Amino acid sequence: MRKKAIPAKTINKIKKLINDYCIEECNAKCCKKGKLLLQSIEEIKLIFPNMKIEKLFSKNIIQITRFNNYVLNYELIGGKCPHLSSNDLCEIYRLRPEVCKDFPIIFKKNTIYYSTFCPAIKSSLVQKQLSILKQRGVTLYNMI
Ligand code: SF4
Ligand code: SF4
Repeated sequence: MRKKAIPAKTINKIKKLINDYCIEECNAKCCKKGKLLLQSIEEIKLIFPNMKIEKLFSKNIIQITRFNNYVLNYELIGGKCPHLSSNDLCEIYRLRPEVCKDFPIIFKKNTIYYSTFCPAIKSSLVQKQLSILKQRGVTLYNMI
């Protein structure tokens, strides 16, 4: 039997819960801690419009992954994304890289990919929604 896709209403509800948590509880952890995964040279240029790509590689600020993506190490550039404002808002919100748009949860048909690096995912309201979906046969995959 073909599994049903997750209803748009449920997806929107979970996205709203996460968004509320971003605004009310989190200080933009994903823009400061760990690493930012970038998909292309264009996205690197978006983050660093005034720096030469070669320099970013030679200083290890950007590294190539074995899957041919790129990672930006926040620690090497002052501990945050250069586009994060002093009040923790994204200054290039509409143009931000794909990973910033998707993080911390991706819905694909009957599967959900999420990251427990994000505190919103671990919050009780989101966990409750995810466990309801799991009981209904949705596959949950933790990308960490
Ligand atoms: S870490 Fe999670 S809760 Fe915090 S800003 Fe990023 S997406 Fe929002
Ligand atoms: S581009 Fe915006 S959303 Fe993405 S890491 Fe930088 S400040 Fe955060």
